[in-house]
Amino acid sequence: MLTGDLLIGAAAVRGTHGEISAIDPRTGEKLEPSYGLAGVADVARAAELAEQAFDAYRETPLETRSALLTTIADGLDTIGEELIARVGAETGIPAARAGGELARTTNQLRLFAAVVRDGGFLGVHIDPALPDRTPLPRPDLRRRYVPVGPVAVFSASNFPLAFSVAGGDTASALAAGAPVIVKAHSAHPGTSELVGRVIQAAVAEHGLPEGVFSMLFGNGREVGIALVTDPRIKAVGFTGSRSGGLALVAAAQARPEPIPVYAEMSSINPVLVLPAALLSRGAEIGRGLVGSMTVGQGQLCTSPGLVLTVDGPGVGALSDAAAAALRDVPAAPMLSPGIQRAFTEGVGRLQDATGVVTIAVGREDASIAAPGQAFLFRTTKAELDADPALTEEVFGASSVIVTAPTADALAEIVEGLEGQLTLTVHADEDDQELARALLPLLERKAGRIVVNGWPTGVEVGHAIVHGGPYPATSDARTTSVGTAAIERFLRPVAYQNLPSWLLPAGLDDANTLGLPRRIDGR
Ligand code: NAP
Repeated sequence: MLTGDLLIGAAAVRGTHGEISAIDPRTGEKLEPSYGLAGVADVARAAELAEQAFDAYRETPLETRSALLTTIADGLDTIGEELIARVGAETGIPAARAGGELARTTNQLRLFAAVVRDGGFLGVHIDPALPDRTPLPRPDLRRRYVPVGPVAVFSASNFPLAFSVAGGDTASALAAGAPVIVKAHSAHPGTSELVGRVIQAAVAEHGLPEGVFSMLFGNGREVGIALVTDPRIKAVGFTGSRSGGLALVAAAQARPEPIPVYAEMSSINPVLVLPAALLSRGAEIGRGLVGSMTVGQGQLCTSPGLVLTVDGPGVGALSDAAAAALRDVPAAPMLSPGIQRAFTEGVGRLQDATGVVTIAVGREDASIAAPGQAFLFRTTKAELDADPALTEEVFGASSVIVTAPTADALAEIVEGLEGQLTLTVHADEDDQELARALLPLLERKAGRIVVNGWPTGVEVGHAIVHGGPYPATSDARTTSVGTAAIERFLRPVAYQNLPSWLLPAGLDDANTLGLPRRIDGR
């Protein structure tokens, strides 16, 4: 049963700094229970417990840490039905999609469990001593990664499971050996509590210190900033708006001890349709666009909000097919009334912009409290040059098709774009030369390059990158999806001339943990 409590270590306590309730975006109905909000004393208590837990948790046997992640995944599966129903009530996400997201979340936790068991993430290097080396002997040097310290995680609104309380940020931080304090998203508190209680129980089941996990509800500007500026927090994971992410980056940088903030913010995921592909399959690409831009009502970080083509005979086929498909797209609830308002403003700006034509609008549905309709626009490079705001993210099912007079002009548009999570290229055999010429530019602009596909649907694995240059993220060197996400919460330590009795686990000559290691670089 949901209680509306904060989870601070092993305790469940009512926050006393105001309260919030979730709203069902399908009906506008207020959902029980209400959630008491945290104050700065609650943040301090969670941070104190996290700090106390840190040294013990980071040295727990890898098997135990791996088992914790598996237990959390199993626990989520056990309450799957209840969870999917609550996700639906709080976000309007249909059961089939919520079920898919749950599977992605538990797979992600199990993947990190395997990463922890493998131990390769510890990055162990041993450079044995060379006492006879001249002119100077070489000391014995051993290196491994240790976690940075307690991590603050800000849940996203658009993936209430996979990018939320037990999402990729939490899974990668716990895998790294870092205690986690989640600032839960105010739009899905019940989902957050269900998941938070599973993690809390798993921490207790494995006999780990209670401060390994806490979860707070509260206003971002107070509780969120208090968390990021608490000296015991050593890194931050965030997915959400550019303004929210930048506020956290600024707060983290202004600390006496600045810390890294891994914020995933805004991206419009441009799709380039090269001339031969446009001519041979413009209509098919147009239909594919609508399929991709309306997944999750366009509320995905990888939703394609911009299509770039060279003006020519195929453009009509592409936009006609896309417009026809889009007109059939039913309205669906958006994640929250606030996000729906922001979307309405965003498409309103595009509708009012000079030289932008609305070529299709999806179906309406007056019975939905926070309805999201799909919108498709068309304009030219000249208009884009005159008004760069046309490439700003409109979070929801909206996309703009832009025609450029030449391939060089197309490259110029890409050159002028901000950093992106993804860039997609549709290219046929005859586009090879142009695609090859564009590739270095695409690499400079995005974290993932997709060919003849669509950017939505992010595979969780070892080779994935869900990141990219600013403002896609605040730090382009990492990813927030996939196993490499663990690197964000680790730092290297070198141990020089430590006697065997002092060496940390995993660095001994006999390799008793059986870790993959490099000796003298090999
Ligand atoms: P958001 O407004 O950035 O909120 C995310 C989290 O950050 C919430 O916990 C929020 O706290 C906190 N926060 C926001 N502004 C803050 C500030 N100035 N200082 C401290 N904490 C702050 O994002 P959202 O609610 O998920 O969605 C709103 C917009 O974000 C969307 O319309 C869309 O543009 C964008 N978005 C982008 C992506 C992406 O992946 N690119 C994903 C989701 C959303 P509160 O609980 O107090 O609000």
